[in-house]
Amino acid sequence: MTTAQMKAEIPEEVKVLKARIAEFVREELHPFETEIAERGEIDEEKLMALRNKAREAGFSNLNMPAEYGGMDLSMVSLVTLEEESGKTTNGLGYMVADRGPRELLELASPEQIERYVMPVLRGETREAWAITEPEAGSDIKDIKTTAERDGAGWVLNGDKWFVTGGERAGFFIVLAWAGEEQASFLVERETPGLEFGRTPVFMHDPYASKHVELRLKACRVPDGARLGTGGDEGTKRWFSLERLMIAARCCGAAERLIDLARSWSLERSASGKKISEYQAIQFMLADSATELNAARLMVYHVACMWDVDAPSILHGKTAMAKLFASEMAGRVADRAVQIFGGRGYMTENPAERYYRELRVDRIWEGTSEIQRSIIARGLLKRGRDAYTMGG
Ligand SMILES: Cc1cc2nc3c(=O)[nH]c(=O)nc-3n(C[C@H](O)[C@H](O)[C@H](O)COP(=O)(O)OP(=O)(O)OC[C@H]3O[C@@H](n4cnc5c(N)ncnc54)[C@H](O)[C@@H]3O)c2cc1C
Repeated sequence: MTTAQMKAEIPEEVKVLKARIAEFVREELHPFETEIAERGEIDEEKLMALRNKAREAGFSNLNMPAEYGGMDLSMVSLVTLEEESGKTTNGLGYMVADRGPRELLELASPEQIERYVMPVLRGETREAWAITEPEAGSDIKDIKTTAERDGAGWVLNGDKWFVTGGERAGFFIVLAWAGEEQASFLVERETPGLEFGRTPVFMHDPYASKHVELRLKACRVPDGARLGTGGDEGTKRWFSLERLMIAARCCGAAERLIDLARSWSLERSASGKKISEYQAIQFMLADSATELNAARLMVYHVACMWDVDAPSILHGKTAMAKLFASEMAGRVADRAVQIFGGRGYMTENPAERYYRELRVDRIWEGTSEIQRSIIARGLLKRGRDAYTMGG
């Protein structure tokens, strides 16, 4: 199946939405990026205003079921919209392909949906996921946070790191050991015993979200705060979804970078020639375009598989897409910086920002090494055909 054929399957209303998102990114977010680069920080009021504007434009909750006000889009449609969100820096893209907490919806009881999920869908609050700890990242079995039964509730103790969006979240989904099994708990921001630690500075700052550290010290939550379990298959599915979306955003980022580098190469002269006439520059552009094409085919291929059915090899195939697309985008950003020369090293240039910001895509939602382990495990278990053919 070619990308062209796959794209032909995108419904007309999604194509229209994609064009509207692309326009919002160009007209609203690119100028804001420039402002952020000039100030060296994000104007929070303007960020909120743009977030609301994007929401009003209908760019939120796209993945949610129709009965929850979403569009219940296919995976191919989600991927094509997510690409657009990759075309902006400073984490601004999340506001134009702002997926709702579907994984939470699938785990939550009717009471929890009413209390926690619905306010998120109405835009009144946000959630943040608190899984990682100082001593546990790649392997969540290493977490130390505990939840002990105490009367009609639970008492949580532990430290959580890298909690994205924790600076404004109304509640946290905290993973803890409840005896021999792991369970997730919904912990409201104001709960006594929930303390906020450092808000470290990251390579991609200034960024639309911060990544905070939390401490749970004898933090008591009611029994109704415990989420149902998604089981291993459920957990794998959400990881796969997030990884596929990262891969899609990386394709969007690479597209913008190639456009920028190509235009510059046609404009800039050195030693009496346009730099686009130098084979060294041409080869960088050719490699970038080729690798983007390969990554995009993988992303759409996995998305199509997801829509048809979700076979057991999907987890491994998604790992391939995330691994390849995130590493591809890093190389494309590196080449773009090179093509811009000294200008590529200036923060006012999107290439410089992408060069720093895309680095995390090889780390979060499972490092490149973890993706390789998943792929290798599947390959050794099921054989080569499943992973290298149409699947
Ligand atoms: C900006 C940012 C935002 C984040 N947001 C969140 C969030 O919202 N919520 C949350 O819970 N977490 C979040 N994370 C945490 C993220 O998921 C972890 O950083 C990631 O899973 C890696 O874990 P770690 O940092 O502990 O690295 P480690 O697990 O300590 O890994 C260190 C190195 O060892 C390698 N390694 C580890 N295990 C293996 C293995 N089995 N085989 C081969 N190599 C291995 C890794 O690939 C890596 O190179 C975020 C992280 C960042 C940087």
